[in-house]
Amino acid sequence: MAGNMVMWNPWHGCHKISEGCRHCYVYREDAAFKTAISPNEVRKTASFDLPLRRDRKRNWKFPSGTLFGLCFTSDFLIQEADEWRNGIWEIIRLRNDCNFIFFTKRIDRLQQCLPSDWNMGYDNVVIGCTAENQKMADYRLPIFISLPIKHRLIIVAPMIERIELSPYLHNHLIKEVSVGGESGKYARCLDIRWVEDLRRQCTDNEISFTFHQTGSYLKKDNRIYNIPREHQHSQAKKANLNIRFPEI
Ligand code: SF4
Repeated sequence: MAGNMVMWNPWHGCHKISEGCRHCYVYREDAAFKTAISPNEVRKTASFDLPLRRDRKRNWKFPSGTLFGLCFTSDFLIQEADEWRNGIWEIIRLRNDCNFIFFTKRIDRLQQCLPSDWNMGYDNVVIGCTAENQKMADYRLPIFISLPIKHRLIIVAPMIERIELSPYLHNHLIKEVSVGGESGKYARCLDIRWVEDLRRQCTDNEISFTFHQTGSYLKKDNRIYNIPREHQHSQAKKANLNIRFPEI
């Protein structure tokens, strides 16, 4: 999915709110680039109107059908952005010829952040709810499946323990489950058996499944493999665990 996605970060900065945030890459990268402003400080970026940009001939810079990935250096639903978010909904309405996706650990804020004409959801918006462990799955997913959303994904990343998602996978409310390990020097190890078990839960419920990256440490056959950053996506693909079911 990320391959053809245009990253759109209208604001930058976030706060750690759960276990999955422990080694957040936004903090890591800001530290690596020695950014003067703390990653805790949420601020608007120069890319706020990115999808509305035009070329010299006044054509859209990003053509019809572009998929924009929103807020990869923040959380789309973070409280500090409440006053800016309506501007984003407006852009999403104006570019209803494009698709938009965001992943969030703050699904409990979605209801209060929706635009007034949301109704049962915008056709061109996909929302991914992150659940890194069982505790967060059991808190966030009941909220997620109760909300009016047209396209729902569950993102299990970084997967830090075995997770039982079966209670949330029936009725075809979820389009796909996508799983990944944690990256970085201090990453927690991903056990391939957790991934295989989640895949089984998905196939039992006819939900598409993607193993999108291994993370830095992968446990397999009682050995722990240290996988360099540049191979984490390709190694996950080589595991050959991805499965697609037709949408219902
Ligand atoms: S919610 Fe996402 S961006 Fe924010 S601190 Fe946690 S991992 Fe980082």
